[in-house]
Amino acid sequence: MRVNPAGRGKPSMAGPMRQNHAMAERVIPLVDQRIAALAAKVPAQAAAPTGLLTDTRGRPLRDLRISVTDRCNFRCNYCMPKEVFDKDHAYLPHNALLSFEEITRLARLFMAHGVRKIRLTGGEPLLRKNLEELVAQLAQLRTVDGLLPDLTLTTNGSLLARKARALKDAGLNRVTVSLDGLDDAVFRRMNDVNFPVADVLAGIEAAHAAGLSHIKVNMVVKRGTNDHEILPMARHFRGTGTTLRFIEYMDVGATNGWRMDEVLPSAELIGRLRAELPLVQLSPTSPGETAERWGYTNAQGQHDPALGEVGVISSVTQAFCHDCNRARLSTEGKLFLCLFATQGYDLRTLLRGGATDEAIASAIAPIWQQRTDRYSELRSSLPADTTQGGARRVEMSYIGG
Ligand code: SAM
Ligand code: SF4
Ligand code: SF4
Repeated sequence: MRVNPAGRGKPSMAGPMRQNHAMAERVIPLVDQRIAALAAKVPAQAAAPTGLLTDTRGRPLRDLRISVTDRCNFRCNYCMPKEVFDKDHAYLPHNALLSFEEITRLARLFMAHGVRKIRLTGGEPLLRKNLEELVAQLAQLRTVDGLLPDLTLTTNGSLLARKARALKDAGLNRVTVSLDGLDDAVFRRMNDVNFPVADVLAGIEAAHAAGLSHIKVNMVVKRGTNDHEILPMARHFRGTGTTLRFIEYMDVGATNGWRMDEVLPSAELIGRLRAELPLVQLSPTSPGETAERWGYTNAQGQHDPALGEVGVISSVTQAFCHDCNRARLSTEGKLFLCLFATQGYDLRTLLRGGATDEAIASAIAPIWQQRTDRYSELRSSLPADTTQGGARRVEMSYIGG
């Protein structure tokens, strides 16, 4: 499929047919997302942030995911397939990226609206030079209740062994590492750059050694690709202090050739795990939590905290839009209200146009207040393609996970 720069490509084809076609004809990359932006408007009447912003469905704004780069050193086939994200792909130029100061300023304004948790993501966030300096700036911010933000990072782990200590020293609280299997051949095939499992495991070790707490490992499960790695992964991380979370393979973006028959529903996954390892369901720790928690049990059938827990993120089979409190800030300063959005609201123009804090905060408020997004709840009733109203969805590597 060819996409014109105005971002109104024809609806895509599904599955392998679409992929083969893409390989044969060369896909023009995702410049469209960067052009098709909505202007964030400053209302005539400024409104002071209260920390209590809610959207049309009563969902508060609590979680801000900040993408710090659209580049990555992996080519996971479910996220940045090699045939699309090749040497001709148009990544954002450096001057399009928000600077650390711009990111921190926006994060402060979002926190005034109620954000408590900040997750740095990408692309691969550790590719952004001196990321620890951004962490140090963000760690100076406070929530409306005067608390430190919960500051975390999602990474493919490839550079973590080198960076964990500096990130922790800068004020990072937690880290989530993506790892799709322990079998080296499977993992090398999935990341598609021949990256070894051992180096990611070394990154996780380094994160523990640096004192980062609540380390999580995310495994995207694709039926027929790495579902045989579920049990080895569970056994490996059980009792280590690292929480493994299984993510249903999602139809995010427009390039991964997603097919429902490659999704392994979490209910089936938990069934497979429970056949081998005793587990009990645990209650959620906070509203808006994406993962359903299952704890390993002791001989009495009770959760044993020393053995830890696993999580399942059922983004496809069990929508959790009803309490989705997440906003996403793209690398170039666009605010997205949903992972499946086709357009973002341009905040960079306000930042670089000399708008005051009051004006930017006033522009953010109505965007969230008018939010209606609930893609996962509607998925089954929507046409089976990767567009919405003719516009293409943004890629996960562009707005972050
Ligand atoms: N590069 C970093 C990493 O891989 O952890 C951060 C960015 S990545 C886009 C964030 C998360 O999204 C990762 O855990 C990744 O596995 C997940 N992800 C990417 N594409 C996905 C898909 N199609 N379905 C489910 N999860 C996906
Ligand atoms: Fe890169 Fe993360 Fe996407 Fe894999 S999932 S290609 S590591 S951004
Ligand atoms: Fe939130 Fe959109 Fe995902 Fe629903 S589909 S949980 S609204 S990001």
